[in-house]
Amino acid sequence: MFINSPIRIHGRLLRVALVLAGGVSLFSAGPAAASYGWPLKPFDRQHPVRGFFGDPRIGIGGDGEPSQQFHFGIDISAPDGTPVYATLNGRISIDPRHPDVVDIVAGSTQFSYWHVIPAIRSGEAVAYRTLIGHVEAPWGHVHFSEAVGGVYINPLRPGALGPYADHTRPNIHGFSFERSGKSVGHELSGHVDLVAEALDETPLAVPAPWDGKPVAPALVRWRIVGHTSWATAADFRGALPTVPFGSIYAPWTRQNHPWRRGGSGRYRFLLATGWNTASLRDGTYRLEVELSDTRGNTSRSNTAFAIRNDAQRAPASVPAAAGDETQAATTVGDSARLRRFVARVADTVGGLLWP
Ligand SMILES: [Zn+2]
Repeated sequence: MFINSPIRIHGRLLRVALVLAGGVSLFSAGPAAASYGWPLKPFDRQHPVRGFFGDPRIGIGGDGEPSQQFHFGIDISAPDGTPVYATLNGRISIDPRHPDVVDIVAGSTQFSYWHVIPAIRSGEAVAYRTLIGHVEAPWGHVHFSEAVGGVYINPLRPGALGPYADHTRPNIHGFSFERSGKSVGHELSGHVDLVAEALDETPLAVPAPWDGKPVAPALVRWRIVGHTSWATAADFRGALPTVPFGSIYAPWTRQNHPWRRGGSGRYRFLLATGWNTASLRDGTYRLEVELSDTRGNTSRSNTAFAIRNDAQRAPASVPAAAGDETQAATTVGDSARLRRFVARVADTVGGLLWP
């Protein structure tokens, strides 16, 4: 429901920009395409971030229906009443339906500051580091988001919000092989879901009650060691994924609920849905997962499993023909090359959009 508003605003703002074009610095000097400071004082010092881009957000939506979505910004911890400042030059837009959300629009870029009591009016032009409002009670944080062309992008990507350093390393908390959310052990046959529970910790300590709660790794990849190339299960480093929530987070995923006992989130990544164990011969293998944050702190972890499909196979298929194996190898090689090509194109496009 928020995706549409930047596009609509963009259309209106484009006209404003055309009128102002030629000599007016309002839209040309903004730091939107470069790095920018924090929306809280001190501007040039890192603040604690208690919610990451891509974290699971599970609850009841505005329409009263259950809702599952990727967190489309970051939550910067700040006491209620803390002054909040513009992080780019642009024009203020406040939707009357969301009076505690301040948007700043410049060209196709929109920065949004949620849970803020505005100190400015809709339509005003603001300069970088102008006071725009104060953190609304009882939220204890600013939800800050950045969208380009109506697409949310990660403010913690290198070259955007800063200074930002991260020396913590995301970690795997467990693997499981499942059908319909139920573990099937480590001896596999047929089709199974591959699931890894993974967590990152915030680089700066976060005030209670959000202290010690997990955040999502920015990148989750997996492979069968020695048999498949790396596949990406989740990538929050750039744009918010456009795939459904349930194709990245597995059943029993939970967001942080700091006011509940044992209210730590569980981030269960669905590496593959209905993975066909018959794509490999019977034997023992290792499933390996690699996690990274936005600063490239990386960890790898693996688990052993066995494939036992013999009982289901027709005897004639046991002595596999050499030709079949070659064919299979070629197919895997081709798809790996294709994936690398697509990844390269995506990187190039990403580089243009989000320097
Ligand atoms: Zn938020």
